[in-house]
Amino acid sequence: MLTGSLLAKTLPLPIAIPLAFISHFVLDSFPHFGYKSGKISNKRLFYAVEILDFTIGALLILWLVLHHHYTWVLSGFIAFSPDLVWIYRYIFKERFGRLQIDYNSSSITRLHKRVQKYERYWGLVVELAYGLSVFMLLG
Ligand SMILES: [Zn+2]
Repeated sequence: MLTGSLLAKTLPLPIAIPLAFISHFVLDSFPHFGYKSGKISNKRLFYAVEILDFTIGALLILWLVLHHHYTWVLSGFIAFSPDLVWIYRYIFKERFGRLQIDYNSSSITRLHKRVQKYERYWGLVVELAYGLSVFMLLG
């Protein structure tokens, strides 16, 4: 989301929006928080990181709206949007034990899954360092 916002800050919106979407897949190809096997091995850490992530995201959106940076919010949401499929998957498959659609049927989702080769718990450090750097550039 931060990357999408930074793109909207620095580029015209018609360029920033597609780049924001693409940036998601580029950043997912770098080490970031997650588990190597794709299975959540430490649920407490996973939930703590997800709650922290959600809280920081919500505060960022609030801060951007209060400063009237609506296009930064839009571009940030576009950058985040590919992960909506994982939220859907978690809610309907992991949580309730059923999945309405085959999320592997989309070529974008298959690409999304394929680029995430470096999900590791220590990727949290990489994410924090990157996130703080981009946040400082936004300010
Ligand atoms: Zn992703």
